[in-house]
Amino acid sequence: MSSLSSPLAHPFFASALLDWYPRHHRDLPWRHTRDPYAIWLSEVILQQTRVKQGLPYYLDFVTTYPTVQELAAAPEDEVMRHWQGLGYYSRARNMHHTAKQVTSDFGGQFPSSYEGLLQLKGVGQYTAAAIASFAYDEKVAVLDGNVYRVLARVFGISADIAAPASRKVFQQLADTLIPATSPAEFNQAIMEFGAIQCTPVKPDCLFCPLQGQCYAFQHGMVQELPVKSKAKASRTRYFHYMVLRYEDTVYLRKRTDRDIWQGLYDFALTETDSSDLPPTDLLDKVEALGGKLDTSSVEEPAVAARHVLSHQKVEARFHAVRLQAPLSAAALAATGLQAFTQAEIEQLPKAVLISNYLERMGF
Ligand code: SF4
Repeated sequence: MSSLSSPLAHPFFASALLDWYPRHHRDLPWRHTRDPYAIWLSEVILQQTRVKQGLPYYLDFVTTYPTVQELAAAPEDEVMRHWQGLGYYSRARNMHHTAKQVTSDFGGQFPSSYEGLLQLKGVGQYTAAAIASFAYDEKVAVLDGNVYRVLARVFGISADIAAPASRKVFQQLADTLIPATSPAEFNQAIMEFGAIQCTPVKPDCLFCPLQGQCYAFQHGMVQELPVKSKAKASRTRYFHYMVLRYEDTVYLRKRTDRDIWQGLYDFALTETDSSDLPPTDLLDKVEALGGKLDTSSVEEPAVAARHVLSHQKVEARFHAVRLQAPLSAAALAATGLQAFTQAEIEQLPKAVLISNYLERMGF
C-alpha cells in the first residue's frame, strides 16, 4: 500500500485504489511507456473506443509511425487509411494536425506540463491531464466517464455528468483525492477501477474494497448514480450514392465539408428527405454531373445499407451506374470526383459503410 500525504481528503479512497490496482489491472502496452507521444496516441485512439478495438490500432500506429515526426510527415490519406474502421474521423485529422504542430512549433518535443499540453490542438483537459501525469508524474487528476461514475457513486454526487457545469464539481473533488506521491498510478487506478470493477451495469459491489465507504452502495443507489441526462435523439439521413463506373475505374471523391467522414472517400452523393429516389431523378442527377449513360436505366436493385453513428443514422442506397464515356475534366473539377482503379481504391481511406459496399460488390 502506498504512503499518502496528510492533506489528502478521504485518504481511504486513494489507499484502496492503489492497493487494488496492481492486483487487478489489465496489462496494456501504453502502460509500459513514459513517452508522451505514445501515451498521447493511446489516449486519442481510446477516446470513444473500447480497449479491445483500439489496441490493434495503437500497435499499428506506434509501429508505422514510431515518432511524432514520422506521423507529421505522413500524407493525410495514409493516416486516415490506418485509422479506417475506428470511427470519429475528426480525431484522426486533429491527431495529424497536432503531430505537425508539435514538430513545427515545439521542435518535435511534447510540452512537458499540463498547461503546456493544453496549447496543442485536439488536446483537452482530460488528455492533457493523462499525458502530464503518466509521462511526467504531474499531480493533475484525470476526469473521464469512468472517473465520473466512480466519484458519483462513492461520494454520492448527484450533479448531472452530462452538464458541462458539473465538471468543476468533480474536478475539485478529484484534485483533493490525488496523492502527490503517485499521481500517475492513482489516475490509472481510478480509470481502471471504473472500467472493470465499478462498471456502468452490474458493478462488482460484492467484492469491492470501497463497499464500506461507498455512498451509492450504502444507500441502495448504485443504479441511480451517476445522474446523466439523455443525449438528444439521433436523426436519420438518407444518402443516395451514385456509383459511377467507366471501364475498370470507379469515381470517388474526398469528403471535404465539415460533416461526418470528413477526409474520407465516397461516391457522388445526393442526400434527400426519404429513402426513395425515383430512377428518373437519379438519371437526371447523373447527367447533371456530365455523365453519359451506358444504358437508359440504372442497374437495379440498389444496394441498401445502414450505418449508425452517435447522433445520426445513415440510410444509404448505392445505385450502380455504368458510363459510356469518362467524365469530362470540367465535371471532375466541379464535383471533386476522380477515377480510381481497384488497386488505388484499396489504398484510399473510406468509411466502413463504403468499404463494406465495395467488398460486397467484389471490389
Ligand atoms: S460498492 Fe459498487 S458502486 Fe460502490 S464503488 Fe464499489 S463497485 Fe462501485
